[in-house]
Amino acid sequence: MKNLEIYIHIPFCVQKCAYCDFLSFPSGRKTRAQYAEALCREILEADIGAFPSGGGAEKVSGVNEGAEHERGINIVSVFFGGGTPSVPETEEMEKIMSALRARFVIKDPEISMEMNPGTVDRNKLEAYRDMGVNRISIGCQSMDDELLARLGRIHRRKDFLECYSMAKDVGFNNINIDLMSALPGETFDMWKHDLISAAELGPEHISAYSLIIEEGTPFFQMQKKGMLDLPDEEEERRMYRETGNILRPYGYHQYEISNYAKDGYECRHNLGYWTGTDYIGFGLGASSYIDGVRFRNTGSMRKYLKGSAREDIEILTTQDMQSEYMILGLRLNRGVGGKEFERRFGVGMMSVFGDVIEKYMKAELLRKTEEPDDFRISLTDRGFSLSNVVMADMLL
Ligand code: SF4
Repeated sequence: MKNLEIYIHIPFCVQKCAYCDFLSFPSGRKTRAQYAEALCREILEADIGAFPSGGGAEKVSGVNEGAEHERGINIVSVFFGGGTPSVPETEEMEKIMSALRARFVIKDPEISMEMNPGTVDRNKLEAYRDMGVNRISIGCQSMDDELLARLGRIHRRKDFLECYSMAKDVGFNNINIDLMSALPGETFDMWKHDLISAAELGPEHISAYSLIIEEGTPFFQMQKKGMLDLPDEEEERRMYRETGNILRPYGYHQYEISNYAKDGYECRHNLGYWTGTDYIGFGLGASSYIDGVRFRNTGSMRKYLKGSAREDIEILTTQDMQSEYMILGLRLNRGVGGKEFERRFGVGMMSVFGDVIEKYMKAELLRKTEEPDDFRISLTDRGFSLSNVVMADMLL
């Protein structure tokens, strides 16, 4: 049985945040309706068997009201990301979900949806729950109204709190809160306060990413002009280093560079991505990765609505796949297992990455944990703070 994850990109936002370089933009009702239609078409017409590597799926016609299903494919997760998936009208999201169910056998996967406070109400949340969404990720980013305004977010702390409590009320019991650190004007104490305020609400999962200033964003221009009062490097490192310590007493363990969960609530979709599970992406600019072949859909709405989705196809070499496997796997606290590496690639991890691994073990950025008949390579605490350096060296 082949595991496959599904990603659905919803590129619409109420307004563009000052730091954002995601494929997202404000939209009108008509564009959203046309997009939902094009997305449903792409899903219903998806031919996994047409991927160059064959995808390993045996097709069966005539199952489930005439829809074509892939036998031998286990859909482990569905992730609605964006943009802001809670911007489109509920009926459009329901249509997209129906198209997914018509095209794939979706038995018991994790179905996550990102949403932003200020774009959801009780009716929407109930509709998401009824269409099978069982995990939601709320983009809070900060609990400080001044910082939220500086980021260009449309919501304030009170909107986030309302959204969170409505989601609990409606019955969601797997909720992620997204927070961002190292914001302009933010101090360590403000970050600590955000983490504690979030943890006290008791969500099952907290994502804590550092702000990255991306080229082409208003923040990039402001930084060039010296108008962004960012925390210095030491303060930023401290925010990162202390995050785990602040969250631990509330029952959260770090399982990935920027992700913390209560036991059993690690995000299945992201775990799959970091451990090399194949995924298929639908929607504007969405990527797919199946059997070592990567596809990317067009980022042009005009082309997408006309039905020409796939644009870039990249066939990865074995070395590309090995590097990617290490780089993604090392994001996880548990790191990468020697046996699994050998099973995938038919060659020992140490014979490919031995030099780099030993170099960073000496520098105490990587550790090797011996297990009865296996071993694991993972980042040390210090290695997590300098993960970019280690990962850059994993490129073959
Ligand atoms: S809500 Fe998210 S995707 Fe939309 S503009 Fe802001 S950061 Fe970007």
